Amino acid sequence: MADLKNRGKVKVVDGRYKFDGHFHYIYPNSPIRNEDGTLMGVTNPRDITHVHMYGGEAPFFESLEKGKLLGTRCENHDCEHSGTIHVPFKIHCPDCLQKNTIIDITDIAKKTAKVHTFMVTERTGAFNTLKIPIKFINIEFEGVATILMSYLPVGEPKIGMRVVPIFQTKNPTYTILDLAWVPKGTDVSKLPDGFSFE
Ligand SMILES: [Zn+2]
Repeated sequence: MADLKNRGKVKVVDGRYKFDGHFHYIYPNSPIRNEDGTLMGVTNPRDITHVHMYGGEAPFFESLEKGKLLGTRCENHDCEHSGTIHVPFKIHCPDCLQKNTIIDITDIAKKTAKVHTFMVTERTGAFNTLKIPIKFINIEFEGVATILMSYLPVGEPKIGMRVVPIFQTKNPTYTILDLAWVPKGTDVSKLPDGFSFE
């Protein structure tokens, strides 16, 4: 059977990824039979550790733990759309392709975030970790050119509703799930475990 104690981990040594342990596990299969007991196939259980490198987006995920929301801005004066702010985080300006400057938009988010539209779903993909029904919301900010996709763990979404960001500062996952939103005025006691306003 699989030795899960030696599950794969990745370190960076001298700027290179160094892999240690096992990244693939195979488990005993089982037959698939029809009603008469005739063999139709087999299941093939597999356990794979994906390695997801964030590259230039890493500062965005690191900042959530600190209660900060980062965006980026084109500061190329020769760009037709110089000054455009992007949230979600875009490393390069889609108009001039130059590297954007990282900016802190936490205050803009707290003061201006609104639900642009939303979607409530009971049907999730594999490995869902959010509470069902999931209230996905698209968020607009004043002065920001893009719309951010996230979720609302507290309250009911409405178009135009003011929301404020909350951050998983306790036991962060370093994924987009460390960021969520609640209706403006929500009491701190209503926030999901591990989340705070800052
Ligand atoms: Zn640009």
